[in-house]
Amino acid sequence: MQKILGEVLEENRELAKKGRVASYIPALAKANPDHLGICIAEIDGNTYKAGDCDVKFTIQSISKVIALMLALMDNGEKVFEKVGREGTEDPFNTLYKLDLPYIDKPANPMINAGAIATTAQIKGDKAGRILELIRNITGNSSIDYSREVYLSEKETGEKNKAIAHLMKARGILEGDPEEALDHYFKQCSIEVTACDLAKLGAFLANGCKGLPSYGKIDRKTLSRNLLAIMTIGGMYNVSGAYAAEVGVPSKSGVGGGIMAAVSGRMGIGIFSPPLDENGHSVAGYGIMKSLSYRLDLSIF
Ligand code: GLU
Repeated sequence: MQKILGEVLEENRELAKKGRVASYIPALAKANPDHLGICIAEIDGNTYKAGDCDVKFTIQSISKVIALMLALMDNGEKVFEKVGREGTEDPFNTLYKLDLPYIDKPANPMINAGAIATTAQIKGDKAGRILELIRNITGNSSIDYSREVYLSEKETGEKNKAIAHLMKARGILEGDPEEALDHYFKQCSIEVTACDLAKLGAFLANGCKGLPSYGKIDRKTLSRNLLAIMTIGGMYNVSGAYAAEVGVPSKSGVGGGIMAAVSGRMGIGIFSPPLDENGHSVAGYGIMKSLSYRLDLSIF
């Protein structure tokens, strides 16, 4: 496994040159485009690493999976009255459909609108509870959020603000849209490593086993929802092509991370900041294709 990881990393290193580090959130533009790391955490506890696995970066959209987990634990499948479970061909930060008269909720919890509508349904200190759950699952109590990235998103996230206020106007979002946004920006700015992502993936791959309580949902229903929604929307508008090419429930973030869960086998965490036009790590996507082929990971 160690040998395969090293080879796959080198085979895909050049791909990073085809991408661009996210700059629409100014603080993200400082990322080093040469960083590249892969970590695999098998569910029986073995861990394999290659490259820059201990470099911290912001989790961004990968936090949407943890937010959905908490929203489901707090409310059960009632969550889906305010956010759908369907794929979409629209980009991650789209908002125009939210104003169409026949649309009553965002397509799924992986696009920004759906994620804001999901986080809004978490009880209490939403971002604080997301951070706590990430610390518990990874066993890494040093994980925290980056104040710099949080403030940068809060200052510049006009499109996310428009999404939240439009959803409030349409009755999708209950409560204060500014409060939901604040928690959303905070959850996106939580800093992790590729190995933290691999551990999150391993937890999902192992049917979410190990939490003291699952609240208003049973563990299997929780696990099925998370993996299914990652499959149909985790890679946004190219989730279908990714399902055919890689075939592993995954979630990417504009910080350059990809977290993947191979049921019954392993979690995978990848970090490489340059992104393609859809907001996915270019080398990360390539590495997932290589790993899927070499380790026979596709569920299809
Ligand atoms: N914080 C980012 C945003 O809302 C998350 C997007 C992503 O990682 O895809 O724009």
